[in-house]
Amino acid sequence: MIDTHCHLEMDAFDGDREEIIKKARDAGLEFIITVGSDLQGCKETVALARQYDFIYAAVGIHPHNSKDFREDVFTRIKEWSKDDKVVAIGEVGLDYHYDHSPRDVQRNVFIRQIEYAKETDLPLVVHSRESKWDTLKILEETNITKGVMHCFSGDIEMAEKAMAMGLYISIAGPVTFKNASRLREIVKFIPDDYLLIETDAPYLAPEPLRGKRNEPAFVVHTAKFLAGLRGVSIGDIERITSVNAKRLFGIGELLEGEIAYEIRDNLYLNMTNRCTNKCVFCVRFHVDFLKGHNLRLKDEPTEGELRDAIGDPSRYKEVVFCGYGEPLLRLDVVKSLASWIKKKGVRVRINTNGHGNIIHKRNILHELRGIVDSISISLNAHDEETYQRICRPAFKDAFKEVLNFAVQAKRYIPEVRATVVTMKEVDISKCKKITDGLDVRLRVRRLDVVG
Ligand code: SF4
Repeated sequence: MIDTHCHLEMDAFDGDREEIIKKARDAGLEFIITVGSDLQGCKETVALARQYDFIYAAVGIHPHNSKDFREDVFTRIKEWSKDDKVVAIGEVGLDYHYDHSPRDVQRNVFIRQIEYAKETDLPLVVHSRESKWDTLKILEETNITKGVMHCFSGDIEMAEKAMAMGLYISIAGPVTFKNASRLREIVKFIPDDYLLIETDAPYLAPEPLRGKRNEPAFVVHTAKFLAGLRGVSIGDIERITSVNAKRLFGIGELLEGEIAYEIRDNLYLNMTNRCTNKCVFCVRFHVDFLKGHNLRLKDEPTEGELRDAIGDPSRYKEVVFCGYGEPLLRLDVVKSLASWIKKKGVRVRINTNGHGNIIHKRNILHELRGIVDSISISLNAHDEETYQRICRPAFKDAFKEVLNFAVQAKRYIPEVRATVVTMKEVDISKCKKITDGLDVRLRVRRLDVVG
């Protein structure tokens, strides 16, 4: 777990700072980012980061302290930002709740620090309270693309606009509070690729510790809560948020491409990064990571490597052949592994684009009889023209072939379903009519929801 935002330098930790840092380490925190708010705080965050390997720092002037922003202060911030252990500019932004600094001064100081973050290519840590429209306007006008909305408390519109700029959304203890139902709805909707977690310690301790002084080790309570809210394991939250933090702040090491990865009780096999479609929404064109797993393979795994990665299949409820690509491009390997897995009494599923028959120029479905329990076919459109535009297949008449594939699949595989991603070009009711006609179940999925 990584606590991406706390204030270890603050007076609240003066009596027991070392002990709190040790507790965080013992609780398994991989990294902590301690964030300065004023000149003295920045100096102390940098000192802490230099003292502890696993602590990094952010430097910047908080909107509350904007009135104290002077050129000599900015010069010091710039000097500290060059330190190897300083990984962000922050926290900066606007706070119209307390108005501790005049609003025009806040805006001006915010813009100056954004421009500097862009110049140095450091991510920006943004504080925004009761200042939604001015915050968004400034972020948009300055073309910021790298940063995080810390301790997010805005609405869905604000989250969407921030993510469209490429900013992460960081969730802190308030999501666990009883009166936070609106925030909880937003948190459910944030795609994995944009999610970060933090404590904002010493403030805002999560339930069940609300009211106490917060500390980095308490991040685990927020993580547990997020896992429940999003229907994933705490391990998933840890991996997803840690990968995101490492990517944003450039800290730690990222795993190499994974051959097999777990989501809930299932094992997913990353067979290939090749595909006969080039879907406009395909995540592999934008990102290497899915639910915190790196799926960008250096080389396609051999059958032996796949077997080793699976280990004992009986540990799983289901083994799913998929990939950042089309698994049926590797039909022989799929067949061999599927029959081995089935012999161990484990369910087998294939997630496919439905091009298997065109790729192999024969009907391959009967070859999967008895070794595949379930097949999930990406329909993705309601007609050929839309399919060609969205999926950009390597074949002519590909949509017609996908429908034929589904018809054949019904003959040989017990469970057949089609999937469609919600996009404004796609008429879901027409897709439903098609799948009803084929007697196939339709799963409509939001773009970011996988597994
Ligand atoms: S079929 Fe799947 S893997 Fe292939 S391009 Fe489309 S979304 Fe990506």
